[in-house]
Amino acid sequence: MRLVIMGGAGFLGSHLVEHFLAQGHKVVAIDNFKTSTPKNIAAFRKNKRFTFIEQDVTRFIKIPGAVDAVLHFASPASPIDYLHFPIPTLKVGALGTHNALGLAKHKKAVFMLASTSEVYGDPQVNPQPESYWGNVNPIGPRGVYDEAKRFAEAMTMAYHRYHGMPVRIIRIFNTYGPRMRKQDGRAVPNFITQALKNKPITVYGRGLQTRSLCYVSDLVRGIDKLLRSKINEPVNIGNPRELTILEIAETIRTLAGSKSKIVHKPLPVDDPHVRRPDITIAKSKLGWTPEVGLEEGLRRTIEYFRKG
Ligand code: UDP
Repeated sequence: MRLVIMGGAGFLGSHLVEHFLAQGHKVVAIDNFKTSTPKNIAAFRKNKRFTFIEQDVTRFIKIPGAVDAVLHFASPASPIDYLHFPIPTLKVGALGTHNALGLAKHKKAVFMLASTSEVYGDPQVNPQPESYWGNVNPIGPRGVYDEAKRFAEAMTMAYHRYHGMPVRIIRIFNTYGPRMRKQDGRAVPNFITQALKNKPITVYGRGLQTRSLCYVSDLVRGIDKLLRSKINEPVNIGNPRELTILEIAETIRTLAGSKSKIVHKPLPVDDPHVRRPDITIAKSKLGWTPEVGLEEGLRRTIEYFRKG
């Protein structure tokens, strides 16, 4: 296969580049380094099957030659980034998705959208099945991401229905692992960075809100299975083990052997109270379940952060 991976220098994108190169495929990665880094793809530059294009995918995308799959994984993905880049976040989800779909249609390629559990907003149903329509504040600070991804899903299904294009929509729940940025702002990289420096661990609110953390290699396996499936409708991929943020902070502190205190800071606006994937469809239709336990995944991630 020859795959185009948008956001190929990002956290998830670079793991996908690595995965598909290792399988012997050709990969074209596109990235503008807005919230990613050239470091993530440095190791692939020598590979003859790897091509890199530095570009903002909200501009027209021209790729010479045949393409079998277009994977749109370009977007800021940390709530802090939505605050810094609200308009680019909206544009990459809307215009970027339109360009990516146009490219896939032109090349007769399968299209995959990296969607998100954020389409469920602050859910009133827990765990969240794909059939749940969500509870999103369109005008809140997170709305730029949530609504862009909801628009992106609508656009993807419209291309599927109107043009008969094969599409895959993965709803990604909180994922962590090596190549997350230290200054990413999300809970796992923040807590690890703070724990390793014995600095206070910043838990927002009382820390009783929940998240369910999936290790990146499990997610990549799920993406591979979904891409090769025939499922055009959204599929949740995530780890259903649900923990409070306080439990996650304490686990990281213990695993890092840290003396950090836990301090409480204000809860961000519209922070979801609960989040847990219902993975019935992934299990039954893809034969996918997560395999890496939280402690093991966190150990590997802490190791990566320790090395700097
Ligand atoms: N959070 C926290 N301290 C931090 C960063 C995040 O308590 O330093 C909380 C945040 O308020 C949220 C949860 O951890 O309830 C997960 O936040 P993250 O930014 O990782 O992503 P989200 O799941 O909200 O998109």
